[in-house]
Amino acid sequence: MSETIAAAPWITLTYLVTGICFILGLKWLSSPSRARQGNQIAAVGMVLALAATVLSGAIHTVGDIVIGVVVGAILGVVGARRVKMTAMPQMVAIFNGAGGGAAALVSMMDFLQTERGGFAFTPDVAVAIALSTVIGSVSFAGSIIAFAKLQEIMSGRPVAFPGMRIVSALVLLFIIVMAVLIIGFGGGDGALYALVAAALALGLLIVLPIGGADMPVVISLLNSFTGLAAAFTGFVLGNDVLIISGALVGASGTLLTQLMSKAMNRSLFNVLFAGVGAGGGQAAASTAGGAVRSTTVDDVATMLAYAGQVIIVPGYGLAVAQAQHNVRELADALEKRGVTVKYAIHPVAGRMPGHMNVLLAEANVPYTQLFEMEQINPEFPRTDVVLVIGANDVVNPAARTVRDSPIYGMPILDVDKAKSIVVLKRSMRSGFAGVDNPIFYDPKCAMLFGDAKDSVVKLVGAVAKV
Ligand code: NDP
Repeated sequence: MSETIAAAPWITLTYLVTGICFILGLKWLSSPSRARQGNQIAAVGMVLALAATVLSGAIHTVGDIVIGVVVGAILGVVGARRVKMTAMPQMVAIFNGAGGGAAALVSMMDFLQTERGGFAFTPDVAVAIALSTVIGSVSFAGSIIAFAKLQEIMSGRPVAFPGMRIVSALVLLFIIVMAVLIIGFGGGDGALYALVAAALALGLLIVLPIGGADMPVVISLLNSFTGLAAAFTGFVLGNDVLIISGALVGASGTLLTQLMSKAMNRSLFNVLFAGVGAGGGQAAASTAGGAVRSTTVDDVATMLAYAGQVIIVPGYGLAVAQAQHNVRELADALEKRGVTVKYAIHPVAGRMPGHMNVLLAEANVPYTQLFEMEQINPEFPRTDVVLVIGANDVVNPAARTVRDSPIYGMPILDVDKAKSIVVLKRSMRSGFAGVDNPIFYDPKCAMLFGDAKDSVVKLVGAVAKV
């Protein structure tokens, strides 16, 4: 059976400092200019927590912990350095799954050791063990499926069978019965294993019917599950820092899930049960009519070079094309000519929260040039050229008017109010939501077809010659 770790006052104090580091980390992560420091202070908090736990004297297998830390740190560093920005959601999914699985395993071990040692549980610990095991296992299985869908190891389409919801409800009922057996009647190894198996099955049943492209929202939800599982494991072990950090992850994951759903104008229920977004941006070609005006690199370069203000709207296609460094070069070239350049950041542009901020930060775009939707929208009417680079849904005015559109009600960037619009994309295909975009047929809009990186590289060259 585990021992209570947070005994000595210096350990409690260190855990308190750790909690403060995590809170500051979360706070700073919400601002692009302090996000790096936020990450760093959270990492310092983690090192402090690990050091205090190892030195507390309550751990009898320090060697094992050190091996775990070294292996985990190597995997974390290599994974974080090698992953592409567009593959970040699946990396978060797999790390999140590992967290949920670890929380469940620790609680299971505590249960088994206590049982085999002939000790009895207090009811609060029994409840915490059951909850941590169930939630951690659901999060583990769900995250693995989310990873497999996003990594295209399996189809990203919703996978469902007739009666799936009834099966899920029965599995949930079975979980409740096993949990009651464990909490109320001392359970036994068999009940625990059955509980874990059912919770793993529930994780699969929850995530399989969700379209691959909705996964970022689901991953955020699973992330909050993992936080809760870790917090309950903290109660099992009597470890304050695990309770604090688990609660922080649980709360921030829940808030992020709500924010993402709200920014997409979808309810969480709709994300979980509607099976939307299975195409992941591979929706059918546009069908609505109207003339589309195609333009050339030279024409766009001239428009940009003689503009007073240009707003760049980055979207998912910019991340796919990896054109962020070239966009920065273009902005620099325009600024040298006296053009004011601003970037408009929509909260759900790309495929994960903060996607565009991270992408542009990679190219060292100054934070002062980044403007959130509410700040930049009043600027469009006095903007000469809006350059929409690989964005589609987040600038689609149908969100304001077309009642049966899946994006109806989603707040958008008001690019249609600018004096002229240039859209850089490869074809007339729709974006994530699979809907046509009337802006492409607007007489003041011109399409510069091609891969965003190719187009922007050519624009940089052409602007230099104007
Ligand atoms: P969209 O998915 O709406 O559109 C992206 C566009 O980029 C496509 O129309 C595509 O057109 C174009 N594109 C793709 N590759 C390239 C390339 N190499 N070069 C040039 N263009 C390219 O992206 P948005 O960012 O506008 O919107 C994000 C969508 O994702 C929203 O619907 C949002 O709700 C959803 N979402 C966002 C999440 C988040 O947290 N950010 C999470 C989950 C979903 P073409 O193929 O013709 O080139």
